Amino acid sequence: MDINSLRQDLIQYAESSPTREVCGLVVYGDNGKLEVIRMENAAKDTEKFFALDPATVYFHDHHTVGIFHSHVSSDEKPSTFDEASCYSCNREFFIYSLVSKKFHVLKPSVDREDVGKLLLANGEFGTSSISRFSL
Ligand SMILES: [Zn+2]
Repeated sequence: MDINSLRQDLIQYAESSPTREVCGLVVYGDNGKLEVIRMENAAKDTEKFFALDPATVYFHDHHTVGIFHSHVSSDEKPSTFDEASCYSCNREFFIYSLVSKKFHVLKPSVDREDVGKLLLANGEFGTSSISRFSL
């Protein structure tokens, strides 16, 4: 789906659950287009928190673009818990608030030394990259 359809889909998903935070993954599907994988909110207090099944997150890691969740009783700003989670999983967080009707995008800024670059510093080997990979 295109970015506007994605936005509408995320809003519709969030609005479908007025009292519990919804959550899921935004991924590149097999056709290379953006999709939302809706997941159960495994948190104990689903009004203020969300939790994703780690095995499912790991399974989809190779094509995950970001992690989505809604806020049902606060604005779109990330909580301290959101910031800690975003930092630890090193993925963009997309938050939509049912209160403010706005999105917030939280980007992790984990500083990691580019070890691959250091290894190649003598220029003997080349590098390549792939943007996505489907099994
Ligand atoms: Zn949150």
